Amino acid sequence: MTSAYKITEHKYDMVVVGAGGAGLRATFGLAHKGLQTACITKVFPTRSHTVAAQGGISAALGNMGEDDWRFHFYDTIKGSDWLGDQDAIEYMCREAIPAIIELEHQGVPFSRTEDGKIYQRPFGGMTTHYGKGTAQRTCAAADRTGHAILHTLYQQSLAHDARFFIEYFALDLIMDEEGVCRGVLALDMAEGTLHLFRAQGVVLATGGYGRAYFSATSAHTCTGDGGGMALRAGLGLQDMEFVQFHPTGIYGAGCLITEGVRGEGGILRNSKGERFMERYAPNAKDLASRDVVSRSMTLEIREGRGVGEHGDHIHLDLTHLDPNDIHEKLPGIAESARIFANVDVTKQPIPVIPTVHYNMGGIPTNYHGEVVQLKDGNPDAVVPGLYAIGEAACVSVHGANRLGSNSLLDLVVFGRAVANRCAETIRPGMPHKSLPADACDKSLANLDKLRNANGGTATADLRLRMQRTMQEDAAVFRTPDGLTRGVGRIRDCVKAFEDIRVSDRSLIWNSDLIETLELQNLLGQALTTIVSAENRTESRGAQAREDFWEKDEHGNLAENGIRDDENWLKHTLCWADEAGNTRIDYRPVHLYTLSNDVEAVPPKKRTY
Ligand SMILES: Cc1cc2nc3c(=O)[nH]c(=O)nc-3n(C[C@H](O)[C@H](O)[C@H](O)COP(=O)(O)OP(=O)(O)OC[C@H]3O[C@@H](n4cnc5c(N)ncnc54)[C@H](O)[C@@H]3O)c2cc1C
Repeated sequence: MTSAYKITEHKYDMVVVGAGGAGLRATFGLAHKGLQTACITKVFPTRSHTVAAQGGISAALGNMGEDDWRFHFYDTIKGSDWLGDQDAIEYMCREAIPAIIELEHQGVPFSRTEDGKIYQRPFGGMTTHYGKGTAQRTCAAADRTGHAILHTLYQQSLAHDARFFIEYFALDLIMDEEGVCRGVLALDMAEGTLHLFRAQGVVLATGGYGRAYFSATSAHTCTGDGGGMALRAGLGLQDMEFVQFHPTGIYGAGCLITEGVRGEGGILRNSKGERFMERYAPNAKDLASRDVVSRSMTLEIREGRGVGEHGDHIHLDLTHLDPNDIHEKLPGIAESARIFANVDVTKQPIPVIPTVHYNMGGIPTNYHGEVVQLKDGNPDAVVPGLYAIGEAACVSVHGANRLGSNSLLDLVVFGRAVANRCAETIRPGMPHKSLPADACDKSLANLDKLRNANGGTATADLRLRMQRTMQEDAAVFRTPDGLTRGVGRIRDCVKAFEDIRVSDRSLIWNSDLIETLELQNLLGQALTTIVSAENRTESRGAQAREDFWEKDEHGNLAENGIRDDENWLKHTLCWADEAGNTRIDYRPVHLYTLSNDVEAVPPKKRTY
C-alpha cells in the first residue's frame, strides 16, 4: 500500500527542521558557512512561537550596572537546581555577550538607555556577585523581544542562500542500519506531496511540547514533533519531568504576562492584598525564580488566600507604576490584559495563575548541538548526523528549572554552535551514501494508517483527555498517588490512539490528519514526562513532589523541597515505544567547566 505514495527526493548538505529562533539561526549560519541548507517548517517562519517571546534575552553586558558572565553562569547553575551541565552553561553565558552584539548588528531594534546602550531589565534569579545583588541582565525590545529577534533572523536567512520549504510537515527521521541519521521525510501540506530530504545532517529545531497540557502559554503548534520523531527513531529523551510553570499566565485565557512586568516593579498580591512573596523569598521577593514563585502562589491559593469568586488565582498589581512607563516598556502587556482579562492595568490588578510555559527536557545534546545517547556504557555517545537545538533540545543548560530570558539566548548561542560544528565536520557537496529501498516504509505506513484511521475516538477528544490528565496529575505540585494515576491514564490514552478516527482522507490541507500526527508526537512526550516524574523520587527545580517536601508543625507544606543529590544528581533518559512501553536510564550531570576562567559550582541549598 505504501508504494502507492510517490516521493520527491531532494539532496542538501544539511536540513534544518524548524524556523523559530533556533532553526533560523542555524539555517543562516550553515548557509553562511557554504553548506547547501534546506529549512523545513510547518508554519511560516515568522509565525513560530519565538515571535511571542516578550520579556527579553539575557547577557551580562553590564549596561545598567555591574555585571559579569561568571555571575550569569552561577545564577544559571543555581536556577537549574544543579541539574544543568556546567560546561554547556559556561559556553552559553560567555557566548551570550558576542551573541547579543551580533543580533544588534544584524538589526534587532533593542530598546535603549539614555546614552544609547541596549536597555536591560532585571529578571528572576539574576544576581550579581554570586547571589548578593540584583543584576539587570535581560536585553529587551520593549515587551516584543521575540518578535524583533525572529524577524531579524528571518531577514538574515533570506540574505543568505538557504532554501525554505514552508508549510511542510516533517514526519520522521530517516535513520540507517548503523543508527546514522540520513535525512527526513516530509509532507507538503498544501500540495499533499511527499518529500525525502537527504542530508549529511538533520538539525531538529521544532520547539517545545507545551500543548501536552490543558493550559499553556505556548502556541497550538508547540506539539514537540522533533521529540516524537526522536522517540520513533528509538532515541531516549532527557529530563522530561521538568516542566516549567510560568507564574503569570492570564487566568482563564492562559496567555503570558511576561516576568518583565515584575522586573519593572509589578507585585503579586493575595486576597488580603498582601505581598506574599516577601515571606517565601525575603531577598528576591517577586523576582525569585519561576518554580519558587509558582509554588508560592499555589500554596497561597490552597491556604484560602486566592482571589476571585472561587479564590483560585492571584493578582498581579501594576497600579503603582507610572502609566508612562507602562506605555513605553510594557505596551503589549497592557493590551493583552485588556483583551483577555478586561483589565486596565493602570487601575486594576491582572488575574493570573501558574501556567505551563517551557520544557526543560528534550532531545539530549552536547554543547555543539550534537544529539547524544547512552551507548555501551558511554553516556556521551554522539548520534551521527543528528543535531537538536532550542526548546526541542536538552543541552542541558536549564537543568531542572530555566531562568527567564535564558531561552532566547539558548536559541541563538546553540543555533550558531551547531552551524560552526557542521562547518568543521561536513564539506559542501559531499556525496550522499545510498539509502536502503525501504528507508521510508515505516514512516509511510504510519502516515497511511492514520490517514485511513477509522476508529471510534476523535483526535480532539483524546487530546483533551491527555491535556487534562497532564494538568491534573503532573502539575506544579505532584503527589505519588496523582503520578501513579496519571501514568495509568496517559498509558490508556496511548492505547486509545489505536482507535483514533480521522475523517478527512485527502492529503491536501488535511488539518485533521496533521492534528492527529501532532497528537501522536504529544502522547509520546506526555508519557515520558509523567513516567520520568513518577520515577524521580525527590524534589528539584520544577519537579516538586509533596512526598519529598518539608512540612511545618501542622503537617502543611513548608517552603522547601527535599532534594536528594546522593541518588538523583543525574539526568533521566526515557524511551517509549508506540505501545506505551517505557524504559529509563541515566546520564551523569557535567559538574565541570570548559576552562579555568570560572570555577565549577558544587551543589548547595537553593534559596532566594
Ligand atoms: C508566550 C511566550 C513568551 C516567552 N518569552 C520568552 C522571553 O521573553 N525570553 C526567553 O528567553 N524565552 C521566552 N519564551 C521561551 C522561548 O520563546 C521559546 O522557548 C523559544 O522561542 C523556542 O524557540 P524554538 O526555535 O526552539 O522553537 P519555536 O519558536 O517554537 O519554533 C518551532 C519551529 O519548528 C517548526 N516545526 C515544528 N514541528 C514541525 C514539523 N513537524 N515539521 C516542520 N516544522 C516543524 C515550526 O514550524 C517552527 O518554525 C517564551 C515562550 C512563550 C510561549
